[in-house]
Amino acid sequence: MQQHREVVIIGSGPAGYSAGIYAGRAGSKPLIITGVDFGGQITKSFDLENYPGFTEKIDGIYLTEQMRKQAEIFGAEILADTVIDVDFSTRPFIIKCENDNIIEADAVIIATGASYRKLGLSNEEKLTGHGVSYCATCDGFFFRDKEVFVIGGGNTAVYEALHLSTVCKKVTMVHRRDVFTAEQINQKHLFETPNISVIWNSVVDEITEGEGGLSVKGIKLKNVKTGEVTEYPTDGIFIAVGNVPNTSIFKGKVELTDAGYIKTKSDLCATSIDGVFAAGDVKNPRFKQVVIAAGSGAQAAMEANEYLLSIKE
Ligand code: NAP
Repeated sequence: MQQHREVVIIGSGPAGYSAGIYAGRAGSKPLIITGVDFGGQITKSFDLENYPGFTEKIDGIYLTEQMRKQAEIFGAEILADTVIDVDFSTRPFIIKCENDNIIEADAVIIATGASYRKLGLSNEEKLTGHGVSYCATCDGFFFRDKEVFVIGGGNTAVYEALHLSTVCKKVTMVHRRDVFTAEQINQKHLFETPNISVIWNSVVDEITEGEGGLSVKGIKLKNVKTGEVTEYPTDGIFIAVGNVPNTSIFKGKVELTDAGYIKTKSDLCATSIDGVFAAGDVKNPRFKQVVIAAGSGAQAAMEANEYLLSIKE
């Protein structure tokens, strides 16, 4: 089916729905194309307690459902399909979806998010939310006074470990090399923190499961130099080995950063293509928080609205 829209939003996480609410209220009847990962990463967070406005814990699915309904109230339409190709070289822009939907758009907001890089262990997905986490800010609180491991050696891993050290009894970092890539100042804080220790030259060989298979009991680490495998008991494992922005379909269509995120103009959501905007984690490699993604979505929609007014003049 072919249709024309003033604003098309690609992605259905907090950035996409927030953009939908703002674009809807501006009267542009936006189309939100959900993608397969309906609701985005936040739907995997079961206890969300840092989104402003809620004094009780909420779960990510509930929050995105509310955002979706709110966007629909203001005229947004939801299309459950996956974008497979975009043409930003022509006006209106053309967006092609898996299920033969072809949409022409005057303005596009990309809100496809980023995915945590996985270690690729067989039970990693099953244990996510059950002892395995990718976000200390989101889940650290649930490991109060417990012993946890953090995997990775970049800035995020060090920040995760520092954050967890304020909550947990003991934090052990595991890095596959003998030197961190994190900034020196962050490393200094880390090495000065008494309840953080580091195991170097090691990778995760296996996560061992507690009774019933839905909790973490231990971690088996393999020394990459000696091949020796050692098992340690632990309550939780935080994996911080980088992120992968969901930008594969935009390669060569809009400017990306060296790390593959959508490049935006300073303090803005505007991209290298007039009329194409990016919001949320797909443009932000650092502060991956729901409230920040939602704010970014709102900004992208406001910028898109200004753009639509400018092309009508
Ligand atoms: P990153 O810098 O890419 O670091 C990823 C870490 O994970 C590296 O230590 C890497 O090891 C390790 N790693 C990757 N794949 C692995 C695997 N399969 N098994 C084990 N270890 C693996 O990612 P990040 O720390 O998330 O940071 C992302 C970007 O945001 C970076 O540019 C970072 O500087 C920036 N950032 C900045 C701040 C700040 O305050 N300045 C805070 C957070 C993030 P190797 O080193 O061996 O590759």
